[in-house]
Amino acid sequence: MPNIEENLANVGARIRAAENKFARRANSVQLIAVSKTKPLSLVQQAIAAGQKVFGESYTQEAIEKKNALKDETIEWHFIGPIQSNKTRPLAENFDWIHSVDRLKIAQRLNEQRPKALGPINILLQVNISEEETKAGVAMNELQTLIESVLQMSSLKLRGLMAIPAKSIEPDEQRSAFHRMSLLLAELNEKYEISMDCLSMGMSNDLEAAVAEGATFVRIGTDIFGAREYK
Ligand SMILES: *Cc1c(COP(=O)(O)O)cnc(C)c1O
Repeated sequence: MPNIEENLANVGARIRAAENKFARRANSVQLIAVSKTKPLSLVQQAIAAGQKVFGESYTQEAIEKKNALKDETIEWHFIGPIQSNKTRPLAENFDWIHSVDRLKIAQRLNEQRPKALGPINILLQVNISEEETKAGVAMNELQTLIESVLQMSSLKLRGLMAIPAKSIEPDEQRSAFHRMSLLLAELNEKYEISMDCLSMGMSNDLEAAVAEGATFVRIGTDIFGAREYK
């Protein structure tokens, strides 16, 4: 069994060290603990250690955990692939969705978001490494998607998310994240908006992402241990 409290402390220390090393403002990077495929008991250990922000990738699993933990104050982030027939439970249950990558998904979330909950925080997932098989909106389709999302009153566009092509080379890791930072700034200027979130960085490239401006890092393995499946 992983020692969740110790792992969280270690990941927190890595984030703070990277903020310091790369001249980022202290506490400007938020940790999302990615608990997908992991049992409720480990999520509870993370909560006991003070973690309040969690990421999940599978709708049914996420909602079961959320219901079991309804007495806790937790911010839930959905970070997984979205099927268009599964948007309603996402619109009804999540505070944040990081993986919006096409118009149909945005439209359905906008329609299905209960008004009483207020707008849902949205990040657009960008295929920053332009990999053919990868999720994320293609670079040449991003602007059309943004223009539509900006018209949707139940969506609050907060920023961009990416899962770059895997690399163990720090300079390569940084170059994809750097392009994300530039893209966010360009889009903010072009549309006169103030997207304030960059969701990038996982267990193996956390430092590179912080160096290039991540505001959310999504960490699973280094908190909860390796996943056996999915
Ligand atoms: C699983 C997952 C993570 C966590 O990755 P680790 O390498 O285990 O830290 C982060 N982001 C997304 C989108 C994921 O699906």
